[in-house]
Amino acid sequence: MTFQNSLEFAQRLDTQDSLAKYRNEFHFPKVNGKEVIYFTGNSLGLQPKRTQKFVDDVMKDWRELAVEGHFYAEKPWWDYHEQLAKGLSKVVGAKPEEISVMNTLTVNLHLLMVSFYRPTKKRFKILCEEKAFPSDQYMLQSQVRFHGFDPKEAIVEVKKRDGEHFWRKEDILLKIDEVGDELALVLIGGVNYYNGQVFDMQTITRAGKSAGAFVGWDLAHAAGNVALKLHEWDVDFAAWCSYKYMNSGPGNASGIFVHEKHLGKKDLPRFEGWWGTKKETRFLMQPEFDPIETADAWQLSNPPILSIAPYLASLELFDEVGMEALITKQKKIVAYLEFVLHEIDQEVTSSFEIITPEERGCQLSVFLHGEGKALFDYLMKNGVITDWREPNVIRLAPAPFYCSYTDMYNFGQILKQGILNR
Ligand SMILES: *Cc1c(COP(=O)(O)O)cnc(C)c1O
Repeated sequence: MTFQNSLEFAQRLDTQDSLAKYRNEFHFPKVNGKEVIYFTGNSLGLQPKRTQKFVDDVMKDWRELAVEGHFYAEKPWWDYHEQLAKGLSKVVGAKPEEISVMNTLTVNLHLLMVSFYRPTKKRFKILCEEKAFPSDQYMLQSQVRFHGFDPKEAIVEVKKRDGEHFWRKEDILLKIDEVGDELALVLIGGVNYYNGQVFDMQTITRAGKSAGAFVGWDLAHAAGNVALKLHEWDVDFAAWCSYKYMNSGPGNASGIFVHEKHLGKKDLPRFEGWWGTKKETRFLMQPEFDPIETADAWQLSNPPILSIAPYLASLELFDEVGMEALITKQKKIVAYLEFVLHEIDQEVTSSFEIITPEERGCQLSVFLHGEGKALFDYLMKNGVITDWREPNVIRLAPAPFYCSYTDMYNFGQILKQGILNR
């Protein structure tokens, strides 16, 4: 399709968009009395309108039933989290029993590393991408030190090539080969938070496993954004937060995936608690831990119902729309945004450089050569919510659930004004 940088054309795309009606399912912040153009669904997704009712229902059940709510609430609390597993299994390409929802992302990665990072004198290295999200770096370093190794030796980072803004798959595969039988774990962010690159998770997983390592993925920027087939790809484990593309609210619970072949094992090292033991015998309060034969075995505590209620509300929307439709719109709206950027770039003879490679999801990271933070501030003041990363990169993530093609056109116009007014 040939795009046009006009309001009329953008509006026409909106009329043809089968997901357009979902925009009205979300609350938008306002600037100058107008709904914002929201590009930060990769950081904190908007609040679905139906979330309020899910939370109110829990408050009501707690008020009226108190402890009885565990069993007699309309959605009983004792297995509330299992409803999330069903919806999530479709989003990440897993079996429901391979999914659990608990804690937050960094906590879960630590808990999963208890099971899947078991270094020996010979096999102790972890492979990750250079400049991984800081929390992941701290997590890996502290895990390595916990096991008595030196992070400088044990953590192997795959670098980008000089002058390039993305990682090459062949460099990752080569590095896996190189580390070989010293490789204990591959743990990479499936979609990079900075440049928006989507890694070839299937190929990298296969390579890591044939080197004899465990392979896990941090899916913070991938879950609800790109197509995932965790079970089929034979991934050992994965975890993601739910407040980015999954619209579950600030700091909300994280999902985990553990491959079926690791489930139901008593001899797998794991930090354990009562919510991971078999449901049938849990309340007999026996001293012996009998792991549930699902990923819930990693769940230590009874889940925070008030906090996961919004996650369930959001998953209802994902269930209604499906990842396929979301990804179809995403490809088109991101392509349109890219087109608008190029058009504006020519009109103002500025020089934007999109540093996101072809392998991408929702996000375009744009290097604003010659522009400073003032431009970013101008955008924010004029109702465009983006984020800024040093030295001068803005990240634009038009979430297909609630962003419109008209938003992309309007953004282009505001951007142009911002540059001309400089
Ligand atoms: C957002 C993000 C996190 C955040 O971790 P929390 O434990 O939820 O605070 C971690 N890793 C990556 C790659 C992220 O993008």
